Amino acid sequence: MLGVSKSSSADEIKKSYRKIAMQHHPDRNPGNKEAEEHFKEAAAAYESLSNPDKRAQYDRFGHAGMGNQGGGYGQGGMRMEDIFQNFGDIFGNDMFGNMFGGQGGGGRRQGTRGANLRIKLKMDYTEIANGANKKIKVKKHITCQQCSGSGARDRNAVQTCGTCQGSGQVRRVTSTFLGQMQTVTTCPTCNGEGMMITHKCANCKGEGRVYGEETLSLDIPAGVQDGMQLSMSGRGNAGERGGPPGDLLLLVEEEKHEFLTRHELDVVYQLHISFPDAVLGLQAEVPTIDGKAKIKIPAGTQSGKIFRLKGKGFPAFQSSYEKGDELIEVNVWSPQHLTHEERDMIEKLKNSPNFRPGPEAKAEREERGFFDKIKDVFGS
Ligand SMILES: [Zn+2]
Ligand SMILES: [Zn+2]
Repeated sequence: MLGVSKSSSADEIKKSYRKIAMQHHPDRNPGNKEAEEHFKEAAAAYESLSNPDKRAQYDRFGHAGMGNQGGGYGQGGMRMEDIFQNFGDIFGNDMFGNMFGGQGGGGRRQGTRGANLRIKLKMDYTEIANGANKKIKVKKHITCQQCSGSGARDRNAVQTCGTCQGSGQVRRVTSTFLGQMQTVTTCPTCNGEGMMITHKCANCKGEGRVYGEETLSLDIPAGVQDGMQLSMSGRGNAGERGGPPGDLLLLVEEEKHEFLTRHELDVVYQLHISFPDAVLGLQAEVPTIDGKAKIKIPAGTQSGKIFRLKGKGFPAFQSSYEKGDELIEVNVWSPQHLTHEERDMIEKLKNSPNFRPGPEAKAEREERGFFDKIKDVFGS
């Protein structure tokens, strides 16, 4: 399941688990039950292998030796809260430091979780290529400073719930045809919070949060793409009465570049040169994502020829080695208006044998065929 062997080190197992967990993480696969199952299975497998006793058992008996012992999580496998709580450290130091923060858990429920916050994030080509720190002002629910999110006027304004004695849960015994069954449900008096507020905080009216403005400082990794969604755990709206905050979901919007167009990891530039330059060759200056570059256009270059500046494209997302190129397509400009003098010169060239497409044109055409394929991919 984790793609590791019996000789794998603890570190390798951890790495492998992290990779799988990231891939199936609920934040990346909202509403996807299958991904959630994979996510849980991987956690259970990791939980077993990271425990020396269980690892020894696994090494001896393999998968069958593990039985149903999901590490005290019962037959239903692990609960999402437990996964985050127990393995939260593995997800730490991610893209954003705490992309997968723990969600708490336990019997007593905290206040309601804050809503996710969705914002659009404009990125230009330079920012995408290099990564960027963006400071964005957002309106959202912020923890009330007056009561530190408790919603109570002061410490004495909080009372333990009499119905559940603070546990947040009540037990109920019901008779069924199978006999007596005990069920545990959320306390209806306190809504599972285990306490009651007698005097609400005036600033937030007992909500524990206020609507306000916050400037977020976001480190955006290099290589993002238009339409990509980045998720930052716990950076969304504050929860009610100390409840966990929602997530911040960033939708990347690519800003158009004045001269360049993106095609996957490559950028494309349309270079227009004069007819004499195409014939005689030239040193041309072309814009790149980070500035400018010089390229040599050799004498006798045909219109439609594509030159490649290696590594001048975009880096792949979360990859340190994969990088695109800049592709420069040559367009030879035919003059639209001519003076009498110019017309005479061209007329003189017209019948010169070197200006007639010769047998080389066929070879050139075959070469063009290859580049035309690239052109198709651009959709131009
Ligand atoms: Zn209660
Ligand atoms: Zn307050």
